[in-house]
Amino acid sequence: MSYDFKIERTATPKVKPVDESKLGFGKIFTDHMFLMNYDEGQGWHDGRVVPYGPISLDPSAMVFHYAQELFEGLKAYRTADGDIQLFRPQKNIERMNNTCDRLCVPRLDPDMVLEAIKTVVDVDSDWVPHNEGTSLYIRPFIIATDEFLGVHPSHSYLFAIILSPVGSYYPNGMDPVKIAIEREYVRCVKGGTGMAKAGGNYAASLIGQEKADKMGYAQVLWLDGVERKYIDEVGAMNVFFVIDGVVITPELTDGNILPGVTRASCIEVLKAHGYKVEERKISIDEVKEAHKNGTLNESFGTGTAAVISPVGEYIDGDEHIVINNNEIGEVAQFLYDELTGIQWGKIEDKNGWIVKVK
Ligand SMILES: *Cc1c(COP(=O)(O)O)cnc(C)c1O
Repeated sequence: MSYDFKIERTATPKVKPVDESKLGFGKIFTDHMFLMNYDEGQGWHDGRVVPYGPISLDPSAMVFHYAQELFEGLKAYRTADGDIQLFRPQKNIERMNNTCDRLCVPRLDPDMVLEAIKTVVDVDSDWVPHNEGTSLYIRPFIIATDEFLGVHPSHSYLFAIILSPVGSYYPNGMDPVKIAIEREYVRCVKGGTGMAKAGGNYAASLIGQEKADKMGYAQVLWLDGVERKYIDEVGAMNVFFVIDGVVITPELTDGNILPGVTRASCIEVLKAHGYKVEERKISIDEVKEAHKNGTLNESFGTGTAAVISPVGEYIDGDEHIVINNNEIGEVAQFLYDELTGIQWGKIEDKNGWIVKVK
């Protein structure tokens, strides 16, 4: 189906980064972006690709005051054959619409969003980097644009997709991280917006992240907001534990955990390869107990940016929980090889997870 997006190409293309080893994450943006407006009575309209640049908004635009904003994150990968492909974009689009529901933002037609992503990535396809482990990060987002200071859902919105070439997350190979268990702050509570990819969630989590940062730890492990006992997730990653050979990850049922596409994919890959996987509540005490009796084999985070991030150590106050001798575990390595293999087209995609941009 064709959506007739207007395409306005830039007259002044930027110079692309030459040294792909210095790309980093989210610092450089491509030549174009996708924009689409929503107005009450009209619905979503005027999908278009335009030159990348500032967006002009009235200072009273509702997004500035009440944070009616949401986003997504996925990647385009360049294969050895030069194809450009997406990994399970439908899952991101479905999640975006679920976030829309939670934040009272009108849903978008999933097929239209997929076409929008493909169209803008195709226009900027020369920006998809070539080096091993590099990719084009895709950031769709929606903001409330009504010029009004009352607290209610906006009647107008802007949907945008911007693109950023990103470097390899592990230029020197996968590296275990240290994570601080957060006891003071919480990320969300049951009934809140934990399951939604809402910008406001991140604003609320910065203070914990900053605390961890100052102590020299890469990330925060968030516990549930009520009992402060069960494990929710890590910063921008879902979290897994391997105890006595069983792979365990917190269940999504309470709505306080972001349903990661990487998380879902790991569970499916593990099950298909005969691993025992449990989605259930897991308390920090259970993890400590397993560590004490030597059955805590591994822990790792999962997310689009890193794919798999092995945890070498959890810190709880002055208690140090060193995992697998601070080395990459077998399950983490297996998942990393399997998922990155499918994403970059080195392993056959048996599940129909890959969507070609063209
Ligand atoms: C985006 C995100 C994740 C990871 O989701 P993926 O779809 O795997 O990238 C995990 N936790 C939070 C809080 C997130 O925002």
